Amino acid sequence: MHVHLMGGWDGEHVDMLGYQRYLNSLLYAGVTTVLDMGNVLPYIQQLRHEIAAGRILGPRIYLAGPVMDGPDPFWPPISYVVSSEAQLPSYVNQLKMARVDVVKAYVGLSERLLTGLVREASKDSLRVFAHSWSLGSADVIRTGIAAFAHVDSPPISDETVRLMRERGVASITTLAMLESFSQRRLDRLAFLSAPLVAQVTPSQFLAALRTFAAKAPTPAESTARARGLVRLQTAMRNVKQLVDSEIVVAAGTDAPYPGVFLGEGVHRELELLVEAGLTPLQAISTATRNAALLMKDTTWGTVAVGKRADLLIINGDPAHHIADTRDIETVILRGQVLNRKDLEFDPKSDPGFEVVGSIFRE
Ligand SMILES: [Zn+2]
Repeated sequence: MHVHLMGGWDGEHVDMLGYQRYLNSLLYAGVTTVLDMGNVLPYIQQLRHEIAAGRILGPRIYLAGPVMDGPDPFWPPISYVVSSEAQLPSYVNQLKMARVDVVKAYVGLSERLLTGLVREASKDSLRVFAHSWSLGSADVIRTGIAAFAHVDSPPISDETVRLMRERGVASITTLAMLESFSQRRLDRLAFLSAPLVAQVTPSQFLAALRTFAAKAPTPAESTARARGLVRLQTAMRNVKQLVDSEIVVAAGTDAPYPGVFLGEGVHRELELLVEAGLTPLQAISTATRNAALLMKDTTWGTVAVGKRADLLIINGDPAHHIADTRDIETVILRGQVLNRKDLEFDPKSDPGFEVVGSIFRE
């Protein structure tokens, strides 16, 4: 419930023409539905349309379209720049015409602009998901947002939890992204040889990631990694508190980031949720039932007569050993058993697209 379908492996340099690789890697890992939380609007809109029409094979896409940010956006190519309330009606109208599923609000919005955005979006029954609660949790909730896109810093207060419960505000986990910031996972690279990564990832991307992981950090990078680890630990405590308080918590990864792959990433996220103190079944529910609750869609998310047949058959017992989710026997997408062999990366038929550009403001 939090990806950016722009390809690449580091979250900055993108591979949009290589979309089929990433759609395949998601399906290969058993991800049958995603929420794209920020992208180039016409691009992600067309990707959703072609998958829904059956001309491209991929998971069902929910989308936010652009990130709504302030006058100096972090991710210029995927952002709408909001500098005054006067812009909001036409921006929201554009999102409505594009049939976005939710609106994504980012850190550069002032409280006044965020409040205006929520008000304008609600006229079209559109819900606003905000980046995180670092701007002043309780005040952000009082703007009327429907969910937080992350659960990290600062430590969540009882007041925030109470307001979230009262107003039905949900949250998305993205622990995998924080683990990437800490680079903790890159200390041991054995996971790059595991099937959910190795069978679906171009070898040049894995080579680039290995080089990235081996690079000695600058003092500034060391500080950033240490901060990332603190943020990860804080987010783990927050997510446990939210689950214990019966807030709707849905699994997300914010893939791609270094070591956070589209597909494999959600299996890592579930492991991190168990590390945070959730039971394996609670963790699995964040990626199934709770994801559907987040999207207010009753047609999927649980196994019941009449629901969409998006199913995984697993070798093992993930209810007791969460890493067993990785051992996938069969993926069923909209009632069709997928041939997972066909989803594997094949250098002979792949065009060899490379990552280019940068969506980040340097
Ligand atoms: Zn994101």
